[in-house]
Amino acid sequence: MGWQPGPNPGILKSRGRASFWGSPHFEYEGTGVLLTMARYIFITGGVVSSLGKGLASAALGALLQARGFSVRLRKLDPYLNVDPGTMSPFEHGEVFVTDDGAETDLDLGHYERFTGVPARRTDSVSSGRIYSNVLERERRGDYLGKTIQVVPHVTNEIKDFLAIGENEVDFMLCEIGGTVGDIEGLPFFEAIRQFSHDKPRGQCIFMHLTLLPYLAASGELKTKPTQHSVKELQSIGIAPDILVCRSEHPIPQKEREKIALFCNVRKESVVAAYDLKSIYEAPLAYHEQGLDQAVLDAFGISPAPRPDLSIWHDVYDRIHNPEGQVRIAVVGKYTQLEDAYKSISEALTHGGMANRVKVKVEWVDAELFDTDDAAPFLEGFHAILVPGGFGERGTEGKIKAAAFAREKKVPYLGICLGMQMAVIEAARNVAGMTTAGSQEFDHEAGKDRFEPVIFHLKEWVKDNETIARDVLDDKGGTMRLGAYDAVLTAGSKVAEVYGETHITERHRHRYEVDVTYKDKLEAAGLCFSGMSPDGRLPEIVEWQDHPWFIGVQFHPELKSKPFAPHPLFEGFVKAAVANSRLV
Ligand code: GLN
Repeated sequence: MGWQPGPNPGILKSRGRASFWGSPHFEYEGTGVLLTMARYIFITGGVVSSLGKGLASAALGALLQARGFSVRLRKLDPYLNVDPGTMSPFEHGEVFVTDDGAETDLDLGHYERFTGVPARRTDSVSSGRIYSNVLERERRGDYLGKTIQVVPHVTNEIKDFLAIGENEVDFMLCEIGGTVGDIEGLPFFEAIRQFSHDKPRGQCIFMHLTLLPYLAASGELKTKPTQHSVKELQSIGIAPDILVCRSEHPIPQKEREKIALFCNVRKESVVAAYDLKSIYEAPLAYHEQGLDQAVLDAFGISPAPRPDLSIWHDVYDRIHNPEGQVRIAVVGKYTQLEDAYKSISEALTHGGMANRVKVKVEWVDAELFDTDDAAPFLEGFHAILVPGGFGERGTEGKIKAAAFAREKKVPYLGICLGMQMAVIEAARNVAGMTTAGSQEFDHEAGKDRFEPVIFHLKEWVKDNETIARDVLDDKGGTMRLGAYDAVLTAGSKVAEVYGETHITERHRHRYEVDVTYKDKLEAAGLCFSGMSPDGRLPEIVEWQDHPWFIGVQFHPELKSKPFAPHPLFEGFVKAAVANSRLV
């Protein structure tokens, strides 16, 4: 049986706008036209975690594309959760949602932002998912009475996963989460070893990221932890072809040679990774250090096509030479951990690049003014963004932020929960429904106590199929997830922003604006400018007598790229720039 790839709108050309350069960067995806079968690059890490493996993988993907190859990036996570959907944003950072409705690791966001290739359900897997598949098959009797073991059953399941779509692209980049030596990671390391062994020689390479710590007292970079990390890899049968060494200081030639000799890699394959001002410098920086050349050499691809890095030079220029600055408040709940809003902060950066300004994002905890006046916390910002979120905590503060933005004519972008809070604010303070609220915060009281302008959606249609869910269902994977179409009202602000009236955006939520309140809210001036194609689900609201106030039920931040900023973020930052000229 093996893995079934989900429905795959990802392979369709994106309907998003072209990039700055008019080049259809999204269309890099395609069949492996240059190579007859996919080459696999396995990316592992050692010494410490958080070295930026995801970023290195994404940047390498972009560099291979710049040389004309097609790529796909995958993440294999050793944790036991079946997917990150149920993990706290405080612990794991944001959940990245794919078009085909998978809740995945935030590294998939990096992959998409750097390559423009829409990720699919089959680009992310965890130990939990692998074991759950194996156990499901065991219950079904698929293993014909055999004893189920990590090797071969779990490792085979991982290998099946790795092989999905192997003939579609030139390069498949597979990142293994965690660090070498982690107990949970072992089946993955064993599986990639076997996978490369099963393939013809030269079809798979291993790239290992390590850290060279600097000892200030002796003024030296130390290579020993890297040597140990490579030994650990070798002890499980994997010999790295490329070492990417993170370092805060320049790596002297002598140290490079030492690493190369002791770790048994070529010296050109010891690639330095220095700290960068912006993550978007990574493709250029890695190219300068010879990473893409080292990879092509390791595969024996010669002569290597010359890279066209013009888009990354332009991105670099836009980041390093802004012509102004705007201050934007993100009023949220998970403000202690920036990774919880990773895609939002990146999309704001992209919006800044499109307008050639630097966006200074300030994280404001909505709970600070749950019961207080919001004005002292929000005055002075050029725009306000209220992001998605779950649960009641901080929601009164978010409602106040929406009220402040509406009254003071400050540009406002409400995303998912941020849209729902703007609707409650409109209902309470403008349409006279003083008890308006959301069923998310009060399942039991029902209509007696408050007006549920935001209600729990239990049934909807996707691809002509009705999907039904109940409050009591499991929390995992029970939301309206993935890409859905919306139809925009011609002449509305949002249609102007998008430059079109049919859009597709990614969703991740259980609750919806109740369409039965539409007339009442529209009479109060809140325009429902985007609806699901069947007209049942409000997708976008906007205030008409406001310079820029838009709430969207979906997550536009997930589709923004540095070379193709999302129109909503481009428009929002533009409005912030206009507002900054007024204050
Ligand atoms: N908690 C809200 C819902 O489930 C909003 C979700 C979100 O912001 N992603 O509908």
